[in-house]
Amino acid sequence: YQGFARRSTNEVLQLYSAHGQQQKLQRSSVVTQLRGSIKKRLKQDLKSLRSFALELSKDFQRQSKTYLYQVLTAVQEIQLQNEAMQMFQIKAFDLEQSLQEVTERYEKEKQKRRALHNSLVELRGNIRVHCRIRPLLPFDTAPGHSISQDRQRNFSEKVAYAVDDETVLVKCSRPGHASINKTFQFERVYNASESQDTVFADVAPLLTSLLDGYNVCIMAYGQTGSGKTYTMLGPQLEENFTFSLEDESELGIIPRAAQEVFRLISEKPPGSYWVEVSVVEVYNNEIFDLLAKDSCGKVFGVKRDVVTTREGKNDVPLLTHETVQNASEFLHLVNKGLQLRVRHPTLVHAHSSRSHLVVTLTITTIISEDNFGTSWEDEQTSQRLNKEVSCTFPQKMRDNKSTSSSRASSPAQLEATEKLKQVKTRLQLVDLAGSECVGMSGVTGAALRETSFINRSLSALADVLGAIAEQRSHVPYRNSKLTRLLQDSVGGDAKLLVMLCISPDQKYLTESMQSLGFGTRARQVQRGQVKKKNFPVPSKAK
Ligand code: ADP
Ligand code: MG
Repeated sequence: YQGFARRSTNEVLQLYSAHGQQQKLQRSSVVTQLRGSIKKRLKQDLKSLRSFALELSKDFQRQSKTYLYQVLTAVQEIQLQNEAMQMFQIKAFDLEQSLQEVTERYEKEKQKRRALHNSLVELRGNIRVHCRIRPLLPFDTAPGHSISQDRQRNFSEKVAYAVDDETVLVKCSRPGHASINKTFQFERVYNASESQDTVFADVAPLLTSLLDGYNVCIMAYGQTGSGKTYTMLGPQLEENFTFSLEDESELGIIPRAAQEVFRLISEKPPGSYWVEVSVVEVYNNEIFDLLAKDSCGKVFGVKRDVVTTREGKNDVPLLTHETVQNASEFLHLVNKGLQLRVRHPTLVHAHSSRSHLVVTLTITTIISEDNFGTSWEDEQTSQRLNKEVSCTFPQKMRDNKSTSSSRASSPAQLEATEKLKQVKTRLQLVDLAGSECVGMSGVTGAALRETSFINRSLSALADVLGAIAEQRSHVPYRNSKLTRLLQDSVGGDAKLLVMLCISPDQKYLTESMQSLGFGTRARQVQRGQVKKKNFPVPSKAK
């Protein structure tokens, strides 16, 4: 048994080792096989990788060629564009130059046309009409300042524009209707940004005319709050309704006109001119003298009347005429008069003026008899004038109150000089009351009475212009004190400038259209050439 067991163990061991060897053999052949197949596989992969890389590089080359081509075309295009741009620049420069030339030519032509138009205006005795559109202001939006409830809006919308310096455009829109644009032409149109300086620059030539012997009248027309007082006087001081003299650039036509008149006088021979001022207010169809003084020398408004003299001229007897030596004396007087100006605040604008203000500057020119007799342009007028002019100097001049600093003659000099004649020219500066219609200002009682007087006087003014325009034989000057007071100026004895003032806001559309209509009618008036007062020809003046 033991032998058998040993033999079996040996056999098992042999078998076991044989099996191990066989397994070894098998494993090594598998490894060899595996290695071969891996090698083969790797070779294949490498090959495909190579061909892929090749393909990729070919593709890259192809693409870079396309891109290069594209870049080249773009560069070429840019070059072409640059050239075109240069061409355009040259063309633009040329165009700019020719535009400048055309603009210059246009400006020259415009000036020529304006000069011709002015001559035509002079010849026909037309009324010049300028129109000023004020800027939108905070009180345009303020609630409670609206004219009527149904038109009340909380926002401002500009509807009146200055298209150019001769045209106003108004956008008329009604709810549910397409808006209509209406245009109006005037001698000059000022937009909201145009300054007091610019406005006065256009007025100044009239003052030269004044010193050349023409009467001149400048009146501001427009609804309350449209800028009449601002244009005529300047911004008003809140506390006493006078105007501020501090900011010179804000001064209106009246103070500037006074400065200009005295400047022009200073260029004339000394002692040949003197200037008197009167300030009147037309309120409820009554004329008030704002410079009249009581026995204590205190200024108070006195009622005056207007009468027609035997020569057919209109005069206000007893009206106070104060002699002034310079512009600041004049302004002081006007400001004193303004403090008396009657007013009632309407809802349209808290400081509305409810009266017409007429400031008159009368310039008396002294002409020696020698000049007088010989140098009149026309003999007949000279003879008529000889009868017309009075040789008496105003009482004040005799009282010798004026100071010798003035270039105007002192009364002593005047009396000492024999054979002197005087010729008067008149500058009327008018700040009319608001042209808005009754019912729109929310006024009642006394204020309503005021408004109806204002409306009546302004419509009387419009009627007068209408009658002159239609050359009717009867002109209804007598329908109101305002038209009587302004009769000579409006009727053709003065170069007349109407300054229309317009509020640009939508809620004042009706009033603006009414004012523009008034201005258009005024422009159509032809009164025949305004007569020059009888001055000697300039060469003879010393
Ligand atoms: P009106 O005399 O027509 O009733 P105002 O001259 O009193 O009107 O003007 C009303 C307000 O508008 C004032 O406060 C005034 O200063 C202002 N105003 C008028 N016109 C202008 C303008 N062109 N530029 C600036 N403010 C203006
Ligand atoms: Mg006013």
